[in-house]
Amino acid sequence: MPAIGIDLGTSNSCVAVYRNGQTHIIQNDQGSRLTPSLVQFTEHDRLIGDAAKSSLSSDFEDTIYQIKRLIGRTYDDPVVQDDIKTLGYKVINDKNKPLVRVSYKKKVKSFTPEAISAMILESLKQTAEDFMGKPVTDAIITVPAHFNDAQRSATRDAGKIAGLNVLRMINEPTAAAIAYGIETKEKQNILIFDLGGGTFDVTIVNIEDNIFDVKATGGDTHLGGNDFDNRLTDYFIKEFNKANKCDMSEDKHALSRLRVQCEIIKKQLSSGTSAKLNIDGLYKGKDLKSTIMRVKFEELNSDLFKNTIKIVKKTLSDAGMKAKNISKVVLVGGSTRIPKIQQLLKKHFEGKILSKTINVDEAVAYGAGVLAAKLSGDTEIMSDVKEIDLRDVLPLSVGWRSRGDRMNIVLRKNTKIPITDTDLTPATTVDNQTKATFYIYEGERACVKHNHLLGSFSLHNIPPKPKNQEKFSLCFAIDESGILTVSARNTSSGEENQIVISNNRGRLSAKEIDQMREEAEKFRKEDEEFKARNKARNILEDYVYAIKHSVDNPDFQGKMSEQHKINIFEKCTEILNWAKIQEDPEIDECEKKKIELKNLCRPIFAKLPGGEAHLQTL
Ligand code: ADP
Ligand code: MG
Repeated sequence: MPAIGIDLGTSNSCVAVYRNGQTHIIQNDQGSRLTPSLVQFTEHDRLIGDAAKSSLSSDFEDTIYQIKRLIGRTYDDPVVQDDIKTLGYKVINDKNKPLVRVSYKKKVKSFTPEAISAMILESLKQTAEDFMGKPVTDAIITVPAHFNDAQRSATRDAGKIAGLNVLRMINEPTAAAIAYGIETKEKQNILIFDLGGGTFDVTIVNIEDNIFDVKATGGDTHLGGNDFDNRLTDYFIKEFNKANKCDMSEDKHALSRLRVQCEIIKKQLSSGTSAKLNIDGLYKGKDLKSTIMRVKFEELNSDLFKNTIKIVKKTLSDAGMKAKNISKVVLVGGSTRIPKIQQLLKKHFEGKILSKTINVDEAVAYGAGVLAAKLSGDTEIMSDVKEIDLRDVLPLSVGWRSRGDRMNIVLRKNTKIPITDTDLTPATTVDNQTKATFYIYEGERACVKHNHLLGSFSLHNIPPKPKNQEKFSLCFAIDESGILTVSARNTSSGEENQIVISNNRGRLSAKEIDQMREEAEKFRKEDEEFKARNKARNILEDYVYAIKHSVDNPDFQGKMSEQHKINIFEKCTEILNWAKIQEDPEIDECEKKKIELKNLCRPIFAKLPGGEAHLQTL
């Protein structure tokens, strides 16, 4: 059974498979190796990838992008609140879970971030199936190293909804390290610098004899190309407002058009030193015409750019290394094409050449594809792949809240996973306490208020005793995908309780996942049917035009009576008019119309030399 590797990116996704000793990045049905992570809802169907991207600036309300910024977060998360201000589509609050609201088939519909991600995953699955010529269900999905427990679990749920069996989730930079490390034999430390659309990850990996030993990881789940686009957008909004004495930011459509253009000029500034922006009738009929220099762009983003280096330094120090200990700096992610970023990195690594021999957009999927082959137990894989041994680390410390809101860390950031550890210190805090509630957090700060609450659960039936006499063992277990389970036991009564943290705090239940899966299946069928109907309509229209052209064919000139010509043209016009007003015609109706036209033409063409044979070819 083949297994695929999927890089489910904020901006772009990519799928890879290992076959016949080689890793293939699979082209989608548009012939492209990257699929934009976008879903557009229309009156008739759903469009995913390139087709959805082309309408981003016009149909921005029903085109969902950057869903990865929302997945696994709560509605009140400041990051979500911040994003809502710039996203073109509507995000609503459903029991503190952010849902996207769109108009689909003329009805208002809400989707969870998991369901939207599942649509993208499903299309990648389809891409892989078309390439392999057989069903594919096993997959590895990559996630930013800095994704927390909730974000990882939500991503795994998205995989389930898409009908994938997620063998494992691995960190994106670790996957890129596999892509680069699989070919090198000598022992080395490599630093992966992955700056994409929405997230930034730095990971240091020691590679020796196919053992990929992650030494440290750092990053920011909210730093990437979108932020650079936003800085540019804000700059032009200010410029436009000042010049026209207005406030264009109230117009979401104008904003959306501007943002799309800003991304384009940002990319231009990676190759040229200046770029022109020219948008006709942006707001209230006023045009935006401007030129921006690369240095200005760099100035607008200088704090963000510098921040990436700060994170690199911190990660090096976490790994107990210095810049000189790194033999290779690997660039991953579209935003690493920005010259200033490369310049800052080179400076920090004292002129070291930055590695980008594997396309920066594809390295993550490439590595995931290699590991997928190993995990699927593919017997034909090369020995190099068979021997891969991955030792990843925990991206954030996890622990529990004790008195005075103190963070008690049980598993420390950058410890190897999978791992299990138990804290035996928790005890009752008041006399005759019969219930104990444990609050589980992740983060590095001493006070839990500054960390992220993952969930809570309680133990009951504690024998009433003076405080501190009843003790608990609190066990933290992280699996290979970085997912956390915490269990607590009252050591004297034996009472036990456990939570898979990810099932808490607004996560989807198994039932909800099943429902979404059914819905996804229904959508897929509907889309297929729509496509089939569309095809039938196109076939009919093509046929009508082919008939019309045949009537005018020089070979038949003067051989067909004027009345016959009129009869055929009238029928053709009738069918074309019918097709024009039909929004979504049924397949058999289209076929029926085609047969009607054919029946009308057959006796007429039969009288022409070669007419019957000609009709057959249409
Ligand atoms: P993700 O992994 O988050 O999906 P990608 O690695 O695909 O992201 O990178 C997408 C980001 O890279 C986008 O913000 C895009 O604008 C940016 N990007 C792509 N090409 C360039 C370029 N030539 N110059 C600057 N930024 C670029
Ligand atoms: Mg990426």
